[in-house]
Amino acid sequence: MDFGISILKKIYRRVKQKRTRSLKKSLFVSFLFLSLVMVLLFGSLMTSLLYYSGINNAYAIIFNKNKAASNYIEGYFKPLSTAVQLLARQPEVIYAVEDPLSQKEKALSLFETLKNALSNINYIYSGYEDGTLLINNYTPPKGYDPRKRPWYLAALKTAPDISDGIPYQEAVTSEWLVSLSKVLTDDTGNLHGVVTIDASMDSVTKNLYERDPAYPSTYSYVVDGEGTVILHHRDDLLGTKFSKNVDIEDDLSSPAGRLSYTFEQTRKIAYYTKLESLGWSVITVFNKQEVLNLLIVRILLSLAVVIAVSLLLGQIISRTLSNKIIAPLRTLEQRVRAAISGSFQTDDQTKLSLMSKYSEIDSIANHIEQLTEQSLLQKNQELEAKNELLEKVSQTDYLTGLLNRRKINEEMEKEYQRAIRYGCAFSIIILDIDWFKSVNDAHGHNAGDQVLKEMSDILSSMLRTTDSLARWGGEEFLILCPGITLEASAEVAQRIQAAIEENSFSVPKKITISAGTCEYRSGHSLEGLLVEADRKLYKAKSLGRNRVVF
Ligand code: GH3
Ligand code: MG
Ligand code: MG
Repeated sequence: MDFGISILKKIYRRVKQKRTRSLKKSLFVSFLFLSLVMVLLFGSLMTSLLYYSGINNAYAIIFNKNKAASNYIEGYFKPLSTAVQLLARQPEVIYAVEDPLSQKEKALSLFETLKNALSNINYIYSGYEDGTLLINNYTPPKGYDPRKRPWYLAALKTAPDISDGIPYQEAVTSEWLVSLSKVLTDDTGNLHGVVTIDASMDSVTKNLYERDPAYPSTYSYVVDGEGTVILHHRDDLLGTKFSKNVDIEDDLSSPAGRLSYTFEQTRKIAYYTKLESLGWSVITVFNKQEVLNLLIVRILLSLAVVIAVSLLLGQIISRTLSNKIIAPLRTLEQRVRAAISGSFQTDDQTKLSLMSKYSEIDSIANHIEQLTEQSLLQKNQELEAKNELLEKVSQTDYLTGLLNRRKINEEMEKEYQRAIRYGCAFSIIILDIDWFKSVNDAHGHNAGDQVLKEMSDILSSMLRTTDSLARWGGEEFLILCPGITLEASAEVAQRIQAAIEENSFSVPKKITISAGTCEYRSGHSLEGLLVEADRKLYKAKSLGRNRVVF
């Protein structure tokens, strides 16, 4: 049970996976399926066609064999039958025992002549109502009474017609013979006796039993008008009733027809022809299984050919489609992938290799490339703007828009390096708003922010373009003045201090600043410079604020 469920799960997973399989694989599977359907369809169609044509063919073969056998039998027995009819009309035969000796001699000589003329004849003889038997070169056993012999009785039974052949085994030679006999009657219809011709059956049955290499089970046999087997290669069946040997009741009444029956547990199919001149039926038969075996081999061979051709066709179609559809689609996929990743092919050779020979695919790829190019361009512009913004944000103070501490540090480092290398002078000013906490306390944080903005505007307006101004801390600012000495920077700081003092800010409070300035001197470190400027700032604070220490 668990095993079954795990198999079902596996199949489900396979089916799920199939959804994402490649187009090529999917096409291959479809064509395989199609090929199988074709094989099934054509296979079953062909199988039934082959089956029916095979059966018909087999019937055609036995039909021909039956006709041949019928002609042979007729050709063999018809002259004998004619000879019996002829003898039965001869006076020397009819009155052989009634007339003087010469008649008997005449009859025997006629028998001899006919026997020599017709090679199939074994014996010609006649029996008479008085018990006489007229025959050449044969001495009947003692007490032999022709009137009790089967040939005699058969002729009486069928009189005035010729009797059907009666098979019997010759007492001396054990040879199987068939007798054709007819009553000897005079013009008034009085019975005198019976004349008979015995023919050898061996050569006939041998001929009827001749094998066909294609259908080795085929043979023919003959039954008389009453359905008694009179010619058959199997002696034990001679004299038996045809309907007793088979499981069907068939009176063989039609002039010709098909038969199907079981004989000794073997299914037979047969064709029979009635020989009107003799009243016999010639039956040609073969084993149904033999035909079926031949058919099965033929059907299997044909199926193998159909399967091979279907698979080959499927393979060819799937390959052709692969080349015509998959390959261009792969090119398209490559081009789209290249376009999306932004690596547009500028190299002519590469571009050529990616080009599809199908204009539709080429056009789709071009459109996608254009679209991607446009959107990439747009994206790049947006990215550039964003990068600019990001750079600005990373370098500036969010409130005042001045450089931030990180950026001014970079600028100072550059200036410091320049000073070391070229000996250029530079100074820094650190300034701090006096009592700024009280501004916040008195007017609120927003008002404090506003003061910080106004302060940065004033500072910006007062500096040279070469100077750099940054918000150094909360309400502290730093000015980097390249090429400026301590004195000059002190002047700048004092000008700023004065301007701030005179400026009326948005808060009803006098705003002042304290500042410390410092010039770089050879051997100083940047940190040392800053510490010194800071120290001077605090000195200014401690000296009472609103002043510059340098
Ligand atoms: P001093 O003269 O000694 O410098 O006094 P002070 O009050 O200016 O100095 P203190 O260090 O005591 O206070 C600085 C104040 O600056 C405290 C803080 O609330 C304020 N401050 C710092 N940054 C900002 C800001 O971005 N906006 C506002 N509104 N206030 C700020
Ligand atoms: Mg401060
Ligand atoms: Mg302060």
